[in-house]
Amino acid sequence: MTFDLPPVRGTITENRPLAGLTWMRVGGPADALFLPADEDDLAAFLAALDPGVAVFPMGVGSNLIVRDGGIRGVVIRLGRGFNAIEIDGARVTAGAAALDAHVARRAAEAGRDLTFLRTIPGSIGGALRMNAGCYGTYVADVFAEARAVTRSGEVVTLTAEDLCFAYRQSTLPEGWILTRASFDAPPGDPAALEERMAAQLAKRDETQPTRDRTAGSTFRNPAGFSSTGRADDVHDLKAWKLIEEAGMRGASLGGAQMNPKHANFLTNTGAASAADLEALGEEVRKRVFQNAGIALEWEIMRVGEPAEK
Ligand SMILES: Cc1cc2nc3c(=O)[nH]c(=O)nc-3n(C[C@H](O)[C@H](O)[C@H](O)COP(=O)(O)OP(=O)(O)OC[C@H]3O[C@@H](n4cnc5c(N)ncnc54)[C@H](O)[C@@H]3O)c2cc1C
Repeated sequence: MTFDLPPVRGTITENRPLAGLTWMRVGGPADALFLPADEDDLAAFLAALDPGVAVFPMGVGSNLIVRDGGIRGVVIRLGRGFNAIEIDGARVTAGAAALDAHVARRAAEAGRDLTFLRTIPGSIGGALRMNAGCYGTYVADVFAEARAVTRSGEVVTLTAEDLCFAYRQSTLPEGWILTRASFDAPPGDPAALEERMAAQLAKRDETQPTRDRTAGSTFRNPAGFSSTGRADDVHDLKAWKLIEEAGMRGASLGGAQMNPKHANFLTNTGAASAADLEALGEEVRKRVFQNAGIALEWEIMRVGEPAEK
């Protein structure tokens, strides 16, 4: 490592393997992993860190493939100091490290509907960055405002306009860390919300490999296609269907496999490297293009460096 680390109240570990911090369980080390104690600690660290050093915020790694050579610079992961959940009427405010599922459950207990977050296995920081959503509701639909620390250590408030939410993405300048978010949640009967979340969990388990090493949907569903050419017939295509039609359901490469239960879930069956997973994903993109003329776009974020040869 060729840079100095400012003193902190939280913990910093140099050359820290990241595989264990991701759902896929792959990836090399970060030059340094920083777990800030709280927002002040984070802000002071970023203000003092050489501006030339790259900073990568990581949630709970449920939408990531970290490459086998790891991540150069500092990876920042928020923990205990960032997981408070407060509810005041319709306004639900959660720290960026709070798990989506916890926020959904706490909101439901208070008669507020954030049920769409219940089955998404990420943190609030990742949910904002990915505009996470399911069952027809996205973060953008309930978002009120967020707080972030900029790469130079300034604490700022962000609006929906700042984040430019789009399908499964938002924009955030490189090296900025989201620290908390507020949502305006519609009302609901706690028992009915609980029942809906239980039904969603059951449906997930039935249709998706929820216990395997995956990062959720591998490719975005291609948007805005029309089979008839008519403007009133525009619809999204299903990535899993395109993969299946290209004969790639169950296809494998090394320890990587397109899941037999859901073809759009790239899976580490045990001994996959990040390179296996990425190469299989690229092979799927090639076959789908050859078969249907559609270029699938990755939804999983691939970060870091390949292993040195
Ligand atoms: C089984 C399974 C099912 C899934 N189902 C869904 C689904 O239905 N809908 C859906 O939308 N997603 C789904 N996902 C994908 C994933 O859970 C979401 O994208 C989630 O929002 C990622 O959150 P995370 O905390 O794991 O973020 P990570 O994967 O760690 O990071 C994702 C991105 O967010 C950024 N990020 C994370 N925290 C911060 C922060 N504090 N500040 C700034 N940037 C940050 C990272 O830099 C990275 O760019 C699924 C994943 C799995 C494994």
